[in-house]
Amino acid sequence: MKRDERAFWNERVRDIAPYTPGEQPRDRRFVKLNTNENPYPPSPLVIEALKQAVDDRLRLYPDPECWELREAIAGRFEVQPEQVFAGNGSDEILAFAFGAFFADKVLFPDITYSFYPVYAQLWGVPFERPQLSGDFSINLDDYTKESLHAGVVFPNPNAPTGRSMDALAVLSIVTARKDSVVIVDEAYAAFAKKNLSAAPYIATNPNLLTIHTLSKSASLAGLRVGFAIGDESLIEGLRRMRDSFNSYTVDRLAQVGAVAVMKDKAYYDYITRKVVNTRERVSAALSSMGFEVIPSDANFIFIRSPSRKGEVLFERLREKGVLTRRFNDPRIADFLRVSIGTDSDMDMFLEACRE
Ligand SMILES: *Cc1c(COP(=O)(O)O)cnc(C)c1O
Repeated sequence: MKRDERAFWNERVRDIAPYTPGEQPRDRRFVKLNTNENPYPPSPLVIEALKQAVDDRLRLYPDPECWELREAIAGRFEVQPEQVFAGNGSDEILAFAFGAFFADKVLFPDITYSFYPVYAQLWGVPFERPQLSGDFSINLDDYTKESLHAGVVFPNPNAPTGRSMDALAVLSIVTARKDSVVIVDEAYAAFAKKNLSAAPYIATNPNLLTIHTLSKSASLAGLRVGFAIGDESLIEGLRRMRDSFNSYTVDRLAQVGAVAVMKDKAYYDYITRKVVNTRERVSAALSSMGFEVIPSDANFIFIRSPSRKGEVLFERLREKGVLTRRFNDPRIADFLRVSIGTDSDMDMFLEACRE
């Protein structure tokens, strides 16, 4: 007998269409190119710091304000610790930011990170989704015209397309919307060919918030740490949200590991370069096989087969043990998003594509 599983849900839970994360397979061994994890291990300094932190101090709550971590991040980005917020992954910070800063309306591209519409719906913020142009680039006009009171959020580079904008283009949006918060989700900024981060401009633009994560470039998706950089008043807004929800979102070990990340720039520059080199090699190889490859500044590529439907290609690759990511939006149904793995992962992927 099946009772109504929705019987105890309130309207909010009944109506929400939750985000679906990429599959984390538990049985078969796959070449896993579906969730943009980094194929290289975290810095040895991070592993060592974590091991050293596993002791009886775990009985104590962590520092709710994450001061040591915020000081380390501030040092790296040349800002003040008061301009930094740390959270349990950048997804959590995005959820807080939607709740704290958006009200009448928020704009984000029709093709972008599929968590944004979920947060908007969760907080009851109406949203509009201007179309990317045919080559998947963002039309600046869509975000700079009219002075309607609307917040903006987009990733730079965008996901799942990998296309990026330079910092000046981002700034033109920020300065056109002085009355609203503009959130730039820089989850993949470390993999860009040129530095495109808007973080250096937060001091002169109090409506700008950049959001960063250790999940991709720092090889720490399992640790759950993200951070935001912005004017002190925005950081305080995030803090008010967090402290109305859970004051200890970043646990003791996560804080320790994240501090260590900030101390090993050389290692992370090295693995980032490797990922970028592999991305360029694989992109060229796919192009020469006739694939459409959107120019990527991220640790993934967005590709379309010249002959196979997206669904078919996805399934064939899966049968061959290569896991990629596909989206249901009809505009991108024939594209696959493929994370950049190690060179040998990608050789297996290319071999599967050739077959
Ligand atoms: C992966 C990703 C995130 C989430 O990162 P976490 O810090 O792991 O929560 C946020 N935004 C975009 C665009 C991403 O691709």
